[in-house]
Amino acid sequence: MRPAPTILHLDMDAFYASAEQAAKPSLRGKAVVVGGLGPRGVVATASYEARRLGVHSAMPTAQARRLAPNAAYLVPRFSLYRTVSDQVMELLGRLSPLVEPLSLDEAFVDLEAGGTADDSASARATGEGLRAAIRAVTGLSGSVGLAGSKMLAKIASEEAKPDGLLLIEPGTERELLAPMSVRILPGVGPATGDHLRRAGMTTVHDLAEAGEAELVRLVGKAHGHGLHRMALGLDDRPVVAERDAKSVSVEDTFDVDLHDRVRVRAEVERLAVRCVERLRAADRSGRTVVLKVRRYDFSTLTRSETLRGPTDDPTVVREAAARLLESVDTTGGVRLLGVGVTGLADYTQEDLFAQAADARELAQRDREHHAPAAEEPVPEPEADSAEQLAARRWPAGHDVHHEEHGHGWVQGSGIGRVTVRFEEPWSAPGRVLTFRIDDPLLRPADPLPLVRESPDYSSWPASLPKSRSSGAAASEGGESSP
Ligand SMILES: [Mg+2]
Repeated sequence: MRPAPTILHLDMDAFYASAEQAAKPSLRGKAVVVGGLGPRGVVATASYEARRLGVHSAMPTAQARRLAPNAAYLVPRFSLYRTVSDQVMELLGRLSPLVEPLSLDEAFVDLEAGGTADDSASARATGEGLRAAIRAVTGLSGSVGLAGSKMLAKIASEEAKPDGLLLIEPGTERELLAPMSVRILPGVGPATGDHLRRAGMTTVHDLAEAGEAELVRLVGKAHGHGLHRMALGLDDRPVVAERDAKSVSVEDTFDVDLHDRVRVRAEVERLAVRCVERLRAADRSGRTVVLKVRRYDFSTLTRSETLRGPTDDPTVVREAAARLLESVDTTGGVRLLGVGVTGLADYTQEDLFAQAADARELAQRDREHHAPAAEEPVPEPEADSAEQLAARRWPAGHDVHHEEHGHGWVQGSGIGRVTVRFEEPWSAPGRVLTFRIDDPLLRPADPLPLVRESPDYSSWPASLPKSRSSGAAASEGGESSP
């Protein structure tokens, strides 16, 4: 738990459904369900209008159809969602080298490590700036939670939904958590929730009151210990950048905790040199030096310093890492040390290529996933009705182009017919026309972008401190309010 709410959790609001509403003007304000439409299909995302009718994700689509018979039922368009996800993740990457994506539309960001916030005011301003940037670039809304830990940041974004921001001031978390259901805590699923309820514990307050020993008796040692800590709002899990092509880092875990400050300094220097070796081997340079320290109690700190310009000079990186270490108390002992360099000089281009390659790879994987393997029996074609054939050729919600009528999307298909609504993300709701499924003028099309002309956000976040000459760990600067 850190003393400032600098862990950010972003969660896009009803992501797939919102993307569909943004793309299809006629569906705005209407119940929209995105998911599998076959007999065993499951809801992936429901719009807020559909949720009000009781539809939620993971519900069988057949059940959703009974609850919301008039909703629009659409087949997911993953290529569009990935494009938007890439835009969102790219914006998050500008706030910090430490971004931990949880799914296409959800991620943790360590603002302190990025030097983009160091107190409540700067964290709130950064969160609001991010929401505005996401809205401008993607046309969609996301909710932001800010707190001193990952658990609370995620709870905060959930509470902030839809289209909101909630900051939990460190020190207030116990009070906030107390009346909430035990189910809000990570790892408490329906089974554990029932188990606790039978023992008379329904709120987080009940868990905190019960005490660790009682919880260990109830749910076992490992789970009970963690549950009690979470009920007290204690969570020291670090934000981990899992596949971070934008940085180079090295770290070491020590068999025995290091207590000697001189030894800790020597290890940091050694790691800095190794890090630069890897940086140079990759023919790259970077401008933000990150130090990671895990202490004897598993609390993990990151400190970062952004240089005036990119470097691959071992002396510069070593000195920056040493300065960062000065701001960290290591008296209790150190388990792990890491040094990284991020904000790579060739970052922009590299990243674009990486994204393009990723998209190709994902598309390929999708195809492999959906294509029946050679040895699998091919489904009997006569088992398909004409209706199923039409649905497979023209999936509901997917894009089409008609030579005379322009861009549209499949509203539905029946026996030998496909119904298309002709509209674009920036047009008024369009008209509906029906064609034969083999109409030569109609062909599948690629999704259109949701925003017609993206505003120029290339220099965002411009007002954040980008350049520090020396000495000042970004996390210590008091001037970082944008
Ligand atoms: Mg979401």
